[in-house]
Amino acid sequence: MLNKELIMYDGSRFYPAWLTKADRQELRNRISDQNERMYCGCRSDCKLWYSISSDLRIYPSHRGYAHMPNCIYAENSRDRSRFAFVQDGASGETRAFLNFKPSTFTVPYEPTDKERKPSEETEQKDDFKYFSLERFVRQLNIDTWNERMAVGKGVLSADYFSSALFGRLKSIIIDGCVKSLREYRVDTDGWGFFYQDFDGYDMRLKADGNYTCSLTVNGSDGKKYSWFIYEKTLSVALKRFMKFFGKDPKDMLAEGQKIIMSGFRYQRTRKGSPQPYKVVGRLCFYAVSSSGLIARSPAELETLENISKLLRFKKDDDLRYFISDEGEDYFGYFEKKGDPRKFIITGVENNYPGAAVYVADILDTALSLDQLKGFLR
Ligand SMILES: [Zn+2]
Repeated sequence: MLNKELIMYDGSRFYPAWLTKADRQELRNRISDQNERMYCGCRSDCKLWYSISSDLRIYPSHRGYAHMPNCIYAENSRDRSRFAFVQDGASGETRAFLNFKPSTFTVPYEPTDKERKPSEETEQKDDFKYFSLERFVRQLNIDTWNERMAVGKGVLSADYFSSALFGRLKSIIIDGCVKSLREYRVDTDGWGFFYQDFDGYDMRLKADGNYTCSLTVNGSDGKKYSWFIYEKTLSVALKRFMKFFGKDPKDMLAEGQKIIMSGFRYQRTRKGSPQPYKVVGRLCFYAVSSSGLIARSPAELETLENISKLLRFKKDDDLRYFISDEGEDYFGYFEKKGDPRKFIITGVENNYPGAAVYVADILDTALSLDQLKGFLR
């Protein structure tokens, strides 16, 4: 759970990882006009001062103090050797490292029975250096949510949240790419990222024993579109989803659950044909809460639903919930206006000085609205 805040002398907070250029300019004006100062939010026993330069980089002006180890400014805290999502607090740039090349189409590799066991173990080992597609999509979801919380914006509907996520792509650069993720389009670049409402799939057995498959997409224009996908890509994504939820996404959709499908789409040509075609080449499914948050299990979905309810009751920035991107054991924390404590939800007992801690595995057991309210008292 990284500390990402800078605190002004009057107590107002800034989150450097999500400041736009305009925000940084405003911050700089405010500091130079009113002779204000800001310090890192990680320590309460001493103030680690920060300044902002004319080229809008945020740099330390304290000497000799060490940050808390969980601080974004601590030495090595955003070390490339430890994280796949590097938010540079100084410049504001966000860079993502993937364990696949997004510009290249590949049919997913399915291990044989002999190979299956070790490869499943590798998949489950949480490697923070590179994202799989599933982890990358979840990270985008978390980042969009946390940015909104950081700037004091409220909880959205799932549809508006998807648009906010799409806007956030402007700030994300995948390592090895020259443009932001938002700027790659399947029509002009040959590949592009998508994050869409899932509206069903079709798998039709042909006379030759193969399948013809497609995904149905709800377009932002209100129309439905059919996207071609190879059977292998689709079945691997379905299998992974069923591992989390024990159900086919189509069945959950029929029960009224909102499902997101996300991944990469490619433009390709067939041998001997000049006509290009488009194909979904990388795909994952997620169930999302009514506020657009991605869940990895039915219990987490219920907890996130209750957290969203709680935040909707409150005025915008009285109460905020930040989701942790630090791994399986740290789920996130609440901040209450006027309360210096953090209210941490974690799966393991740990030492968090000055914080209120709730130990619960929200992937296995949902937290009710009453439990959450009790914790925040
Ligand atoms: Zn710090």
